[in-house]
Amino acid sequence: MVANQDLAQDQDLRRALLTARRGTDFFGRKLSDLSDDEFAAPSLLPGWTRAHVIAHVGYNARAIARLIEWANTGVETPMYSSRQARNEEIEHGATLSPVELRDLYEQSANQLDVAWRNTPQEAWAHEVKAAQGYTAPAAETVWWRTREVWIHAVDLDNGASFADMPSDVLERLLKDITGAWHKRGDDKNLRLDVLGSGGVTQLGDATSADPVIVTGTLPDITAWAAGRSTRGITSNRPDTLQAPRWI
Ligand code: ZN
Repeated sequence: MVANQDLAQDQDLRRALLTARRGTDFFGRKLSDLSDDEFAAPSLLPGWTRAHVIAHVGYNARAIARLIEWANTGVETPMYSSRQARNEEIEHGATLSPVELRDLYEQSANQLDVAWRNTPQEAWAHEVKAAQGYTAPAAETVWWRTREVWIHAVDLDNGASFADMPSDVLERLLKDITGAWHKRGDDKNLRLDVLGSGGVTQLGDATSADPVIVTGTLPDITAWAAGRSTRGITSNRPDTLQAPRWI
C-alpha cells in the first residue's frame, strides 16, 4: 500500500487510517496462513464458518466504501439496504470458493483504501449512517473498519489473539463495549479491574458497595468483554464469568 497519499490532513485522522491499514494487513496475513481446505471449518462466531467471516469482512469493506462515496458526493448510500440483505449477502458469500473469497477480500480492501485516500479533508466531516442506524461523521468509518478487521482476525481462529492488537485499539474497544453496557444498564454491580504496567484501572460500576469484580490484563479483559474468551480472567464470583451482551 502506498503511504502518505491521503488527502486527509488532520493528524489524528491520518494516524487512525494507519491503524486501520495495520489491521487490514494483519487480517490479510491470518487469511493467507489458511489453506483452502481450512475455510469450511468453524470460526469463533457461533454458526459461522471461516468462509462466513471472510465474506463478511469483504462485504463490510464495500459497505464502508459506499458510506465514503456518500460523504464525497452527498448522495445518500446506506451500508446495506436492510439487515436481511446484509445477512443474505454473507450467506451467499460463504458459498464462494476459497479463490473467490481471497479475491473478494483483496479487492474490497483495496477499493476501500482508495476511497479513503481520495477523500478530501472537508468530506470526512460529512455525516453518514452506521448499519445500526445512528449518524456520525465519515471519519468514524475508520474506527468501524479498524474494529472489524482486528476482531475478525481473531475470529478466524488460526492463532490471532487480542494480545496482537495495538493497545490504543484495545482501549477504545473496551470503552465502546462498556459504554454499550452502560447505556442498557447492563453494567450495574459489575466492575472491571484492568491490570497494566502502571497499576490497576477500574471501569464499570464504581458506586456499588459489593460489586462483581472481573480482573485481567487489557487484552484478556477486552477479549472477555467482546464475548470471545475467558482466558486470563479471574473474578471474585467465578460463577459469573459470562460477560454482558455487547451488540
Ligand atoms: Zn463484523
